Amino acid sequence: MLSKFTKWAILIIATVVLTLATFSSTIIASATTNTATPSWGSWEDTTITYKTSTSSSYYKGVWKNAVKRWNSVGVVQLKAAKAGQKADITLTSSASLSTKSGKLAGYTNYSYLKKSNDNEIVSATSTLNRSLLSKYHYSKNQRTNVATHEIGHALGLSHSKSKNSVMYASDRYASIDHQDKVALQNAYTD
Ligand SMILES: [Zn+2]
Repeated sequence: MLSKFTKWAILIIATVVLTLATFSSTIIASATTNTATPSWGSWEDTTITYKTSTSSSYYKGVWKNAVKRWNSVGVVQLKAAKAGQKADITLTSSASLSTKSGKLAGYTNYSYLKKSNDNEIVSATSTLNRSLLSKYHYSKNQRTNVATHEIGHALGLSHSKSKNSVMYASDRYASIDHQDKVALQNAYTD
């Protein structure tokens, strides 16, 4: 199906990662920057389908909570794909993630079409590293923060320099902040 785009768009496949956060939450509280969250692309439509492909009901719940958080922003609508339907975003977890390039809490693989005015996201898969999250005693809420961060990438957001942003590159404490809502709004408004 992608062939009709090849004349004017290039399909790019990339990966972004979220690293282990070990700093204390008191450092977060003292950091108040107003850096806007950057974005790198968007889906063609604001209704985006997803499926959770993890056998763990615990992680299904973590992903469901993260989906709820993004839906409550009111910009995009993440809808569970019907059985047998191909989902835009796949949400999963891995117990045996190799971390030779660093300690990864989660990562998102995505592909997009490079266009002159914007990048159009065509698929994304976000994975939580179960073994690391357990080893470093992330609470369920912190795991939900990591899941929210990964879905943020799947929706087109990049890393923020602000520790208050859910898109901070090494994070387990922050959830969706005002600047993240503005970024999503901007990414999906022509
Ligand atoms: Zn990230």
